[in-house]
Order: sequence, then C-alpha cells, then structure tokens
Amino acid sequence: MPRGVSDSPEALAALLAEADHAVVLTGAGISTESGIPDFRSAGGLWETYDPMKVASMNTFMDDPALFWRFHRPRIDMLGAVDPNPAHEAVAELQRRGIVKAIITQNIDRLHSRAGAVDVIEVHGSLDGGRCIRCSHAVSMDELCARSDAADDGVPRCNCGFQLKSGVVLFGEQLPMEAIEAAYDAAERADVMLVIGSSLQVTPVSQLPGIVLSRGGRLAILTESETDYDHRCTVRIHQKAGPTMTAVLAALPG
Ligand SMILES: [Zn+2]
Repeated sequence: MPRGVSDSPEALAALLAEADHAVVLTGAGISTESGIPDFRSAGGLWETYDPMKVASMNTFMDDPALFWRFHRPRIDMLGAVDPNPAHEAVAELQRRGIVKAIITQNIDRLHSRAGAVDVIEVHGSLDGGRCIRCSHAVSMDELCARSDAADDGVPRCNCGFQLKSGVVLFGEQLPMEAIEAAYDAAERADVMLVIGSSLQVTPVSQLPGIVLSRGGRLAILTESETDYDHRCTVRIHQKAGPTMTAVLAALPG
C-alpha cells in the first residue's frame, strides 16, 4: 500500500462522510457475491461461448434463434439471484443523501431491487424488451412468455420482427442518455467510489480520470487490480459485501 493511501472501511466511511457529491460506480464484481458469475473471468460463460459472436447485434439480426438460446437462460439465472449487502449499502448511502448518483455497468437490476433509484445503467438492463423495427415495448415477463411460446425460442413483436431485451449488445450503440448522465455525474463528483469494476471498458474507464482531473478523490473496492490503483485516496482489496457493511457501520448516524 503506497504511503498516504488508506485501506480500511473506516477511512472509506470518513471519505464519504466528507463528500459533498459522492458518486458510486459499479461493475460485475459487486454482483459476483450474489452468485452471478463474471462472464469475463476464468471459467465464465464467455469461455464456452464467444461473446463477440453470440451476444452481438449481428447474431441478433442474422440468427435470432442462436441469440435467444444464449440469452434466455441468462434472464432466468439473473431473475433467480438477490441483491447482496453491497447493493443494500449503496442504496442506503443514497437514501441518506451521501451518494448522489449510482452508475453501473451491470444489467442485472440488483441496485434497483435493493432499493436504489435513478440508477444510470450504461450497458442497458433487463428491465424489458423492445422491437427495433417498430419500437413496440414489452415487459420482461411478456418477453419471456413470447420466447417460451415460440418453437424456436425467439420472442416476436406483433409486427413479426424479433424482440430484443434492453441489454446493450456487442456492436450496438450505448444508450446515449445514460452515457451523458454518467459523464455529468463524474464531472460533479468530489468523491468517486468504484466497487467491483476493473475499469477496463469505455466509457466507464474514463470516469475516474474525470473526477481526478477536477480535484476529486477516488476510492476503489475491488479484489483485482485497476489502472487507477496508484491514484486512490482509499484502496481496498476485499469483498464488496462485508466491506460495505463495515463502511455503513463506521458512518455516523
Ligand atoms: Zn415490431
């Protein structure tokens, strides 16, 4: 641990307590403790399937049956898991007014299910489906029901085109509104707390740099290394759930 860098939950609590505009940024690591595998890690689903192929806009357009054979079990798996203490702590920090914005790379909706509001989902989410031909929107339940009723597992719109969930695919544009909200939150942040993101994917990888360039401070809570480790005020290499529970306990009130 470099000099001047703290690694205790108490130091993280103090940093958050001092902040006027703390922002939380989360990635896959916060949800692995809920039992969701990080698809990019060793042994993950990405080793069985080539994500660039299966979870891509090209496959969705050209081979929707293959796309939905991959996508449908993921929806069931994500629906069967629950938020963990880290999601609950983030929601509680937002309720207390300490955290002003929550940005996530995750599509699992676990922040919202833990009670967080206005979550900025930069990779979209599993909150419903939409037809990319006629823009007709359906609920997640409806999307799954149409998938299950189809011989080839492909949910279709009333117009006949295959429906898509709200998850951003490889080769698809990121949701502009969420990206703008994420940059706006980073520009306003005097503290950014990163939980469970290795900060390797744009645009999220740029956000801590924006905070630092404007004089803000950075805290990172991940088990793995990141390129920003040497620029942190607080750097904790621990599991997210127990650490965030300790952070809440160390906060006054
Ligand atoms: Zn349609």
